[in-house]
Parts: sequence; C-alpha cells; structure tokens
Amino acid sequence: MAKDYYKILGVEKNASQEDIKKAFRQLAKKYHPDANPENKKQAEDKFKEISEAYEVLSDPAKRSAYDQTGQVNFGSGGSNFSWQDFSHFNDFEDIFSRIFGSFGGGSGFSNVRNEGPDLDLAIRVNITLEDAYYGGKKTVKYRRNIPCQACGGTGSKDGVLVTCTTCGGTGQERVVQGQGFFNMVTIVTCRTCGGRGKVPRVECPVCRGNGSVSSTETLDVDIPKGAVNNLKIRFKGRGQSYHGRTGDLFVILSVQPGKDFIRDGDDIVIQQQITFPEAALGTERDIHVFRETFRIKIPPGTQPGETLRIKGYGFPRFKGSGSGDMLVKVMVEVPKRLNSTQRELLEKLKEESDKKHFWNR
Ligand SMILES: [Zn+2]
Ligand SMILES: [Zn+2]
Repeated sequence: MAKDYYKILGVEKNASQEDIKKAFRQLAKKYHPDANPENKKQAEDKFKEISEAYEVLSDPAKRSAYDQTGQVNFGSGGSNFSWQDFSHFNDFEDIFSRIFGSFGGGSGFSNVRNEGPDLDLAIRVNITLEDAYYGGKKTVKYRRNIPCQACGGTGSKDGVLVTCTTCGGTGQERVVQGQGFFNMVTIVTCRTCGGRGKVPRVECPVCRGNGSVSSTETLDVDIPKGAVNNLKIRFKGRGQSYHGRTGDLFVILSVQPGKDFIRDGDDIVIQQQITFPEAALGTERDIHVFRETFRIKIPPGTQPGETLRIKGYGFPRFKGSGSGDMLVKVMVEVPKRLNSTQRELLEKLKEESDKKHFWNR
C-alpha cells in the first residue's frame, strides 16, 4: 500500500498549492527535531515523511503521476524518497538550514546566533556491507546553494551594497517576547540582511538578492575499508553557500546489513551445518565472504552449538590494522531418514557406545 501523502499533510485531495505549502510549514515546525528533543528520532522520521509528501504534492507533475498511479519515481532511489530528492530547501531556509545543521553536527541550539543560517549540510548515503568490506568509491548527487555567477555571490546587480536599515549595519536584531511578567529579549540574526549588515542596492535578478542559486552537485565519496555504520565524512566547503560564505557537507554512511552473516563490530558471525560423523571426526569447510574464500578447520569432538573463533578472518578493521575474527557457530545435523547401510553402521556405533558406557561405569 502506497503512502497517502494527502493524509500525511492533512489536506484534502483537491487542496490548492497554497494550502499544501501552509500545511507543510505548520507540520515542519511541529516536527522540527530541535522542537522535539525528547523524541528526536521519531521527529526526524516524521519530518522526513512530511517533506516527502510535500515534495510530491507541491510539484504538479509528480502530484498528477501520484494521483493516477499512487506511486512516484524519485529518480535517485526509485520509489524511495531520500533527502537528495527534496528540492525545497531554499523555500524553507529558515526551517531547513537549522535541521541540517543539527544533523551535521553544527552548533547546538542557542538563542544567540550571530553567523546567519547554519551552512553545513548532511546527506545520508546507503552502502552495502560489501562496499564496507572492500572500501571503494561511491558517486552521490545532492542539492546545495552555490554562489550566483551573475553577481559574484554579492546578491547585488551592480555590485553595490548599502547599509541594512533594519539592523543599522550590526547584522543583529533584538526580538522581544512577552513571557508572563517577564519580557525575554533574544538577539537573532537580522532577517533583512542575513547578518551581513549590508544589503544590495539593486537586487541581482538571477538570485533575487540571495547571492546564491540552487545546484545539483555530484560528489565522489571514498568509502574507507571497514567503514562503520553512521560514519560521518566531512567535505570542507561543499555545503550551502550564502552571501559569500560556504559551509561543509557531511556524508553519513548507512551500512546495510548483509544476508549471509552478521557483522558484530570487526567480527563476522556465521552459522555452519555439519553432520554428526564430521563433528565426531573433525572436518574442513570453505566459507565464502563476498569474493573471499576461507578454509576453516572444525576439530574432532566439536559439540552442537559450539562457537569456534578463527582469528583474522573477520571484517577489516576501520581503526587499526588487520581484521577481526570469524565466529563460526557449528550446527550438527541429525539425519531424519537413514538408508540401510547408515542404519547398520549407526547401530554398530551404538553397540560400541553402550559397551563404552558399560566399561566406564
Ligand atoms: Zn540587517
Ligand atoms: Zn546573483
């Protein structure tokens, strides 16, 4: 069952673009991770969900495709929405710059913000367990604001900037809020000039005075060998550009779980079935880990459920050199059906075992 984007935003099927924008804005503020420090994770998930719904319903082409088929192709991940597919960061800069700042390890919440919007960006990139095992390169696409070419990032059509009249050139505004008997004075970045203290005399028509324009960027990410989940890689100067300053980009790796074994830190945990005679006599097995083959020895007398630790056959260590261990949990099969030879041999073995017990008594 596809997601009901109308329900997610709480709007009618025939809602206007204005209604949709308004609904999104309200919900985005409500589920802003900063506004939900108690349930940050849930708020982030919910925030992403409403952003996905907004991305679809605010775009007439996507909305019509969704109305007809109940599905949307986002491009980068097929029908799975990721932040790279969101194209409205600029429309809600006041909301998004802070969110991505908090994802990206930017400054924490503070009433005094002198530096304008947080320019750091964070994107999440999925990699397979195999990518993490071997390391390698991954090309990702994301959107960011880059300096406007037309005005050289100044936001001014003729390059001339004049003192901002809102803040008198200080770049800061005082906001007074009543709180019962008290008035709380908060100093915030001037919303007219974004903290620069200056504004263009004539706005650049290309960027409408922002000094930056939205652009789709391609980036090669080096995945280190043994990369761990949630690894954060910093790219200096690849974040948002705003009035001549540029933030950093943080790529956060999501390592997907594998299907043949479990990765436990630097160890690989795997199950191996053997027969009862093999358990008694000992045996060898080839264990495949992606493109590698490891031959392991199972010693005579191995017990069902016993775990063998084989040093150095595990995951490449992200920190330090070498590899972790391979933990092989040995499962012993008991045959459900026997042919006559097997039955004969096992009965002989039983006789022998009974004798042994007799003598052991
Ligand atoms: Zn100002
Ligand atoms: Zn411009």
